[in-house]
Amino acid sequence: MVQFSHMSKFFGEHEALKDINITFNKGETTVILGPSGSGKSTLLRCINLLETPERGTLQIDAIHIDLSKVISKKNRLAIRQSTAMVFQSFNLFPHMKVLENVIEGPITVLKKDKKLIIEKGKLLLSKVGLSHKMDSYPSQLSGGQQQRVAIARALAMEPTFLLFDEPTSALDPELEGEVLKVLKDLSEEGKSMIIVTHNLNFAKEVADRVLFLEDGQILFDGETKMFFDNKENNRIQSFIQSMQFI
Ligand code: ADP
Ligand code: MG
Repeated sequence: MVQFSHMSKFFGEHEALKDINITFNKGETTVILGPSGSGKSTLLRCINLLETPERGTLQIDAIHIDLSKVISKKNRLAIRQSTAMVFQSFNLFPHMKVLENVIEGPITVLKKDKKLIIEKGKLLLSKVGLSHKMDSYPSQLSGGQQQRVAIARALAMEPTFLLFDEPTSALDPELEGEVLKVLKDLSEEGKSMIIVTHNLNFAKEVADRVLFLEDGQILFDGETKMFFDNKENNRIQSFIQSMQFI
């Protein structure tokens, strides 16, 4: 479980996240929705401490962190290892082949046995449909393929939580589907995932739960069906309508 209590994140004077209370459960897929600038990326980045909030607490399983105090190296590392982030822009190592990209983290960070992790890397590449590309360089792949490598690389670290920040927004629409399919498979497998996306159809189909952010606050936190069926909240209705043709 990932839990924030009374968490606030400031950029200078600007309070980008305001007194956030939220729990992400294991085995669930949560989609984070909200207008641009509402704090979606910041929330995701606060989970793995790419951004450090100034207030509140963060708990991931047995790790408890008081965010108002200096975070120990040990805790920071533990948090990093229980989460893995997939970015909009893939962020693969350009000078490494596909399989090397996937096994780099487990070898250098987790100190895994090279032979074993090569086998595992191959398995993960077949899972994302890219066995035939393991000896290619990222530049020889389409954007959709690169993003699938990035997903295999994240899985190779065996994180408890997978974090995705707009994983398909840099892709042409016809390549978006192949990445969303991989995410859907992972969700159905019961992986714990938190996904920022603008794709409402994907959210509707795959998310167990929706979080709607606006202006650094949580306006909705509940079941996907309740979010889309909601009739009371005008702000959510107008957001859904504004996304109709995207
Ligand atoms: P979203 O992902 O929902 O578009 P962000 O989390 O990127 O929103 O940003 C939330 C708010 O925090 C915005 O007002 C943004 O300008 C601000 N912000 C984000 N990152 C930084 C940063 N590194 N420095 C200063 N302000 C930032
Ligand atoms: Mg963002």
